[in-house]
Amino acid sequence: MIDILELVRPNIAALCPYSTARDECSSNPEVFLDANESPYPNSWNRYPDPHQKALKARIAELKGIKPENLFLGNGSDEAIDLLMRVFCVPGKDNIVAISPSYGMYSVAAATNDVSVREVLLRDDFSLDTEALLAACDSLTKLIFLCSPNNPSGNAFPLEQIEEIVSRSGRIVVVDEAYIDFSSVPSVVPLTDKYPNLAVLQTMSKARGMASLRLGLAIAHESLVRLMSMVKYPYNINGATQALALDLLRMPVEDQVREIVSERERLARELPRFSFVHKVYPSDANFLLVRVDDADVLYAYLLEGGVIVRNRTRMPLCRDCLRITVGLPSENDRMLSILDSYKR
Ligand code: PMP
Repeated sequence: MIDILELVRPNIAALCPYSTARDECSSNPEVFLDANESPYPNSWNRYPDPHQKALKARIAELKGIKPENLFLGNGSDEAIDLLMRVFCVPGKDNIVAISPSYGMYSVAAATNDVSVREVLLRDDFSLDTEALLAACDSLTKLIFLCSPNNPSGNAFPLEQIEEIVSRSGRIVVVDEAYIDFSSVPSVVPLTDKYPNLAVLQTMSKARGMASLRLGLAIAHESLVRLMSMVKYPYNINGATQALALDLLRMPVEDQVREIVSERERLARELPRFSFVHKVYPSDANFLLVRVDDADVLYAYLLEGGVIVRNRTRMPLCRDCLRITVGLPSENDRMLSILDSYKR
């Protein structure tokens, strides 16, 4: 079995993490003169729990995992950056990532002076396992997969991801930001078997908390511990911890069902327009749509008050727009603008 400590940057392996006075004491003090806070209560005058115990317990319960296997970040973007910082020596190591995919893998790599080896997906956005593994060299520390993938919308088969995790000898990061909308099951259960698998999820999509900034990494305890050592002590602020706990009481299954049914409705309706050449199959809350001229159609939708994501400059995405599934009335409005295009 792979020993992930062998992949860790030596300075991180040797790191003595910051600890608070409250971490270091085992009793329950009543007067807090340890952290130079304001003593005047206004609900927010105390530092939040750096270990997010209550929130982690709740999320772990919802996900059917143990809190030790859960890292919480300021969005999953923080987890992406932390994984680079834990494993990649700046100016030396590299990561391998699929392309096209979510832009933050290469931005986080660039800010950490880590080079990216991009592996182009096939024309139908499926993944060539051998090409991916062949792109790794002795300095590759992380492999980034995104499933369902942004912007293509497709999910990779579970068996294919498992094969990559078991053969790669690297940390494989599977970004499951859109997993709640997917018919392909999550790879989270595989984290019990593979210490080199890190699964990213987020509260920003199906859970409706994009503004709170709360992302998850689910992985082997030792990987979670490494990320926790490197994070800022209070990376999840108190308001986010409190509001997320509250919002997690609200079920979102009906909303997810509606988004999926609207996605399928749009996938049926959009091909009826002569200027729509292809609607790619999607397991996410958006559709990648190839049109005759993405720049022109993008501007036309914007003129009508609807903004979508123009992906025409991404690899394999020439003349493609990525359209997020909105409320039924919002989707209708988008369709009605398309109705009046080129008439
Ligand atoms: N991963 C993917 C694939 C995404 O598309 C996004 C957001 N667009 C994120 C991660 C970032 O999520 P968060 O809001 O948790 O930082």
